[in-house]
Amino acid sequence: MAVIHQHAALTAFCLPPSDFPTMHAEIIAIGTELTTGAKLDTNSQWLSIELASVGIPVLLHTTVADDLPANLETLRAAVRRSDIVLISGGLGPTLDDLTRQVLAELAGVELVLHEPSLQHIRDMFAKRKRIMPERNVIQAMFPAGSEPIDNPHGSAPGIWWEFPRPDGSNCLIAAMPGVPSEMKPMFRDRVLPRLPRSDKVIRRARVNCYGVGESACEEMLGDVTARGRDPEVGITVHEGTITLRIEAHGATESECDAKIAATKQLIHERLGELVFGEEDEQLEEIIVRELNRRGQTVAFADEVTGGVLSLWLTAVPDSETCFLGGVIGSAVGQVFNLPVPAGQVENLPHERARQLAQQTRERFGSDFAIAIAGSLKTDGIPRLGLALADSNGVEVQEHIPVADISFARNRAAKSALDLLRLRQS
Ligand code: AMP
Ligand code: MG
Repeated sequence: MAVIHQHAALTAFCLPPSDFPTMHAEIIAIGTELTTGAKLDTNSQWLSIELASVGIPVLLHTTVADDLPANLETLRAAVRRSDIVLISGGLGPTLDDLTRQVLAELAGVELVLHEPSLQHIRDMFAKRKRIMPERNVIQAMFPAGSEPIDNPHGSAPGIWWEFPRPDGSNCLIAAMPGVPSEMKPMFRDRVLPRLPRSDKVIRRARVNCYGVGESACEEMLGDVTARGRDPEVGITVHEGTITLRIEAHGATESECDAKIAATKQLIHERLGELVFGEEDEQLEEIIVRELNRRGQTVAFADEVTGGVLSLWLTAVPDSETCFLGGVIGSAVGQVFNLPVPAGQVENLPHERARQLAQQTRERFGSDFAIAIAGSLKTDGIPRLGLALADSNGVEVQEHIPVADISFARNRAAKSALDLLRLRQS
């Protein structure tokens, strides 16, 4: 599609060059619904993954409200420091949609009507048997010097702009609708083919671990997590599960894959049996796979989490062959004839767990039984007991829950599952 011609001096844009050395992109998500927390910005995440797959690193994400000065400042900085700026949101017809005005103001140019885009918008309304409100004309207006990007999936065209910078270089700007179902095809079909091909490939992998704190894990890994290492390894933690995120840069996919394999090897050497899986794998998936492979079964007694183990295990495909069932909640004490209610078990929650695991294994006739005993609702600091019974006896563990009760349930369930995983390894 043709560039919208109208020459204007870029008076509003006079800035020093970027401090960032290499070619990179940044992403700006525009919308007050994002900055207020009413909606989560998922577009930036999606765009970053897409860019990584073609070797373009993303150095910055910015989320900004529907506010003209805030947008102007964000864009001015972005255009100065980044070679590619992807924007989502703010292209709608309403007064709070400001992206086109911000771009025009940034360059000090006018908005110009693009007749074919207006016709497209009119046609979209006609197809839905509706009359186009006058306000929608704004969606066919583009900053002089930019190009419309077709939007077959909605009314608002995007904006493509090879934005001239004072040093003679261009910043590539693509402004796309915020609606993910319009933004994604526009990016893949219309924007991505116009982005420069990087001579680099970026590949990512994840390794999942359980059974140690984040800082202890980092200490064990030593130089593996050093900044600037290739591949770089980052650590994130979610409810006790530690994820090591490996990112390799190279000339080819196979070069990246080789680097990732070598780093995984190092991680396994340093963390040993703390490593349980890769990518999206969860503890329960590893356990079910191993139980089914060996033709073994598991049951549980859980007076703490309200059935988290059951929820997780039943969600794994083919778990019905190995997961026999369980006893949940305050009935556990009664079912197994324990004298004291769970909330009054102060000193020996692990002894209670031992009894529960043993009895559960007998009642269900399973190879393994897991028990989670005690209560999160005591007057003092809650202490839980975890136990795993098998034909060799019972292994017990005292478990001090984290303060936040919503995490405490999942942490207790994961730690109990981990006893079984370690027994299997
Ligand atoms: P807009 O293009 O600003 O009119 O956005 C239209 C709608 O798209 C919003 O109401 C949101 O529901 C959705 N949306 C906008 N930005 C994002 C984003 N960054 N991530 C996910 N959804 C978004
Ligand atoms: Mg919006």
